[in-house]
Amino acid sequence: IFISFEGIDGAGKSTHIEALAQAFRDRGRIVTCTREPGGTPLAEALRTLALEQAMDPLTEALLMFAARRDHLAQVIEPALARGEVLVCDRFTDATFAYQGGGRGFDVQVLEQLERWVQARADGAVRQPDLTLLFELAPEVAAERLAGARVPDRFESQPLDFFQRVARGYARRAEADPARFARIDASQPREAVWAAVRAAVAAKGFW
Ligand code: C5P
Repeated sequence: IFISFEGIDGAGKSTHIEALAQAFRDRGRIVTCTREPGGTPLAEALRTLALEQAMDPLTEALLMFAARRDHLAQVIEPALARGEVLVCDRFTDATFAYQGGGRGFDVQVLEQLERWVQARADGAVRQPDLTLLFELAPEVAAERLAGARVPDRFESQPLDFFQRVARGYARRAEADPARFARIDASQPREAVWAAVRAAVAAKGFW
């Protein structure tokens, strides 16, 4: 089972990622919790480069996909082959939202890279079985983040950047409604958690 969490910075994914991993463990499942960009030593190094340095949009997209390829090969595919639950904080939809929506990079090029980088041994394109998209107005997310942590070069973007990111996510969700569960992240934490559990149950994962 492959589950990804998506949403703009400040949407509140982190606590629910941990809670979901624990809920699967309580049900006797082996869970790997990982993140993108990152999840392997090489991909974490690429993450540091991408988050700290300015670069042109194609370079940025290629770094994200290079990190993803290593992550898929080293962590994601082996864990799924062992029958584990793999919970990932961001996956390919983040590239469509941030590099596509936020930066305005050509989405058709991203789609080509996606087919190439996420190709599985059987030729299909690897995607999560379920993507939980945390949706929250960028203004509210920015308020939540203010003072919470030192912003990286993406988090310090202006509000309209995050509006484009949110639209990028929404377009991905509309294109693949069977995979996505859209969660209203403005609700109190307990209600968000209930929505997460309901989405997982609706897929028959427990
Ligand atoms: O999920 P997390 O907050 O750790 O992501 C680190 C940063 O990388 C975020 O600020 C996010 O906006 C950015 N990011 C990105 N493109 C991606 C994935 C994440 O710009 N494909």
